[in-house]
Amino acid sequence: MRDSASAVSRSKGTAGDQPNQTMPGSKPAAGLYLVATPIGNLDDITLRALKVLKGADLIACEDTRVTGKLLSLLGIGGTSLAPYHEHNAERARPALLARLRAGAVVALVSDAGTPLVSDPGYRLVRACLEEGLLVTSLPGPSAALTALQLSGLPCDRFLFAGFLPVKAGARRQSLAELAAVPASLLFYESPRRLADSLAAMEAVLGPRDAAVARELTKLYEEVRRGSLAELAAHYAAAGPPKGEVVVVIGPPAEAPAAGEAELDAALTRALAASSLRDAAAAVATATGLPKRQVYARAVVLQAKDGT
Ligand code: SAM
Repeated sequence: MRDSASAVSRSKGTAGDQPNQTMPGSKPAAGLYLVATPIGNLDDITLRALKVLKGADLIACEDTRVTGKLLSLLGIGGTSLAPYHEHNAERARPALLARLRAGAVVALVSDAGTPLVSDPGYRLVRACLEEGLLVTSLPGPSAALTALQLSGLPCDRFLFAGFLPVKAGARRQSLAELAAVPASLLFYESPRRLADSLAAMEAVLGPRDAAVARELTKLYEEVRRGSLAELAAHYAAAGPPKGEVVVVIGPPAEAPAAGEAELDAALTRALAASSLRDAAAAVATATGLPKRQVYARAVVLQAKDGT
């Protein structure tokens, strides 16, 4: 393995074969370090993260108070912090790039977990790559992947969808776009909107297995598993949960093996003539198949059709 920054391809647009810039005993080379930090449990900080955070000339972070507190808990003092978040990213980027061009070691962290997942970090990465500046990643905690692991749902194929829109119409539209995706779906969600979102997920995606993962890696870590309908009913009755949550939803049901083509043909005809709900009800009556199963298949067909 090469171990000097000069060995890194710095030509414009070249990803390069980047060396490990944090070998034991070596000072980090100049460049941008994407550093994952704990999502609750301080012990999840990695040895590489500690080394780079200690050795960085500058730490770019979403909220200087949050990262300042983390650094103090980790016993790291004296490193400068610079805010870099969705509201100031355009203004703050040129100064960060200037520091990087001048040979600084810049660490990029988010409030918690893996930076770039639901924050503007990727634009900084793109800008660095365009200039041939070193970019490397220190992997670590991720709320999305931790929730997926604990969900008990298929992990071989998944789609991370971030936060859903807040307004009900836009949220339904986003969910409809995902209805036919043959993979588990992952969402970040605010506890206040959780019950409404689960109900919308059930209405648009149809009956599916799901899990709500809360306070991951923390003292009160909890994963509640059930159908979307059961989870929606639970949180509607119990009220918003405390802490942070990730929602994981299993993939759509396979179409029934027997009569699959006939069901699809009947639904396609009915969808051309009526609303999703009416089409599903009519076909369920005509075929004698369970309403929920026909509705779930209708959602998939409609989404595939782009209607
Ligand atoms: N960068 C982070 C990561 O790697 O997962 C995620 C940041 S995202 C802006 C914040 C969202 O992640 C929260 O709203 C919540 O949905 C989820 N999250 C973060 N920490 C969590 C935890 N300990 N337990 C459950 N969800 C968490």
